Amino acid sequence: PTILAIESSCDDTSAAIVKDGKVLSNVTATQAIHVEFGGVVPEHASRAHQRNIVPTVAVAFQRAELTPEDVDAVAFTRGPGLIGSLMVGVSFAKAFALARDLPLIEVDHMQAHVLAHFAEDPKPEFPFLCLTVSGGHTQLVVVRTALDQKVIGRTLDDAAGEAFDKTGKMLGLDYPAGPEVDRLAQTGQPTVAFARPDPGELNFSFSGLKTSVLYTLQKKLREDPDFVKNNLADTCASIQEVIVSVLLRKIELAVAQTGLTRVALAGGVSANSSLRAGLTELGKEKGWQTFIPRFEYCTDNAAMIGVTGAFKYAAGKFVGQDVAPAARF
Ligand code: ATP
Ligand code: FE
Repeated sequence: PTILAIESSCDDTSAAIVKDGKVLSNVTATQAIHVEFGGVVPEHASRAHQRNIVPTVAVAFQRAELTPEDVDAVAFTRGPGLIGSLMVGVSFAKAFALARDLPLIEVDHMQAHVLAHFAEDPKPEFPFLCLTVSGGHTQLVVVRTALDQKVIGRTLDDAAGEAFDKTGKMLGLDYPAGPEVDRLAQTGQPTVAFARPDPGELNFSFSGLKTSVLYTLQKKLREDPDFVKNNLADTCASIQEVIVSVLLRKIELAVAQTGLTRVALAGGVSANSSLRAGLTELGKEKGWQTFIPRFEYCTDNAAMIGVTGAFKYAAGKFVGQDVAPAARF
């Protein structure tokens, strides 16, 4: 089947065409407006989705060299996400399907981040372990089959992406700070000591890191007002080292507990160069098979929604026109 997929859970408007499980196009409009405000303003996000959705879908059809008449089903992100943002994608999907009498497929955004691995080769074999690290979530997931995923560990407070963004903001970096922390860390050394909170088992906690960075910087700035300016790369490297080492340690623990040796990364933070290199190295050392998505499929994208939609289409899982967005899906 040919599936039109729509993603609008946060601040990226994305549309994709997936035919027989293969991604023919994947188009994303990012919203520059949030840089000005240092974070995503839900009201602005919703309005930008409204402006972007029709042109984004049109480009997705153009690049796939298909027309709306070729579509067999419409897949969309039902949640979790910002309600005003989800509303735009869900309404568009419903209207598109209603006008053409097409079946609708609801998709869980977090399940889709995991299944982004099926947008390209090599695809992991089931079952596998996946660490999903994004702006709003940090989860260790046992992926038994595409549609049977079990969360075995999660963050008790902030997500890993949030930790990058919030600590980066303290250093004066633009939103989202994650990619910039990553870039700056490449020329620095982890010389600044920060707290490494560990709530035990397979769970994560990053709010203590945020507090630790705040207090440590306040203290350093009292001693040297130019501390951040003169130690930016080292401070970034130090923050990144804490986050990445915690993530890798928990993966090791999850492998030990589950016996699974196929290990995948998903979500925006899996774009992080140190995490990618760290997992690859650890995998080689331990004899695991590791899977790291292409950058395009790490952050929010509709291709992952379409790929998940294809699994659900095959399983006959459709929803009616009465479906509504769910912020906490
Ligand atoms: P969720 O999927 O939980 O609803 P989201 O969709 O907003 O949240 P993603 O788009 O998957 O999250 O990821 C965005 C996050 O990834 C941001 O916090 C961003 O800073 C982070 N990120 C992106 N690239 C990097 C990088 N190279 N290093 C560290 N963090 C990164
Ligand atoms: Fe996401």
